[in-house]
Amino acid sequence: MAQPRLPNILITGTPGTGKTTLSELASLKTGMEHINVTDLVKARGFHSGLDTEFDTLILDEDLLLDEMEIMVQPGGKIVDFHTCGIFPERWFDLVIVLTTDNTTLYDRLAARDYSAKKIQENVDCEIMQVVLDEARESYKNDILVNLDSSTPDQMEQNVLRIAQWLESYMAGRQ
Ligand code: ADP
Ligand code: MN
Repeated sequence: MAQPRLPNILITGTPGTGKTTLSELASLKTGMEHINVTDLVKARGFHSGLDTEFDTLILDEDLLLDEMEIMVQPGGKIVDFHTCGIFPERWFDLVIVLTTDNTTLYDRLAARDYSAKKIQENVDCEIMQVVLDEARESYKNDILVNLDSSTPDQMEQNVLRIAQWLESYMAGRQ
């Protein structure tokens, strides 16, 4: 019998909510492969420079999506990115939006070398639930989960939750 196809998971959320940490831990636990989209954009130059007003890279979406299409096609990927509306809905079997308590998020961003403006923009983005709204507009409710990532305990629970989700997904495919 053919092996069932592995699923793809998107982990999204405001910068600082713990996407990369969770993706790395979940990758170690499950053997799925972590794709850090920001690193991919930088490494392959899928951008046209820095937007100086917002201090973010201006994405070359066509090049990025063409490359990622090939990467996600076999399944088994954990995609880590702070925005989620640019990806085709069909790529993902599970979409996780991480959220973090506002003061905790502020402290995490302040520990990075972000400007005061960039910290405030990201905290505002979290307060307004921008990524959560974008995910609700872009993906079906039944594959969408919002997980809190404010404490180390929650991080640990979120890793276990992904591992358990993968197990039941694969059991359902046999
Ligand atoms: P992102 O990739 O979303 O920007 P990171 O994974 O880089 O976020 O996490 C930002 C910082 O916050 C890191 O120092 C990380 O260790 C810490 N962190 C993330 N999630 C948690 C959590 N649930 N509990 C405690 N610290 C966390
Ligand atoms: Mn990250």
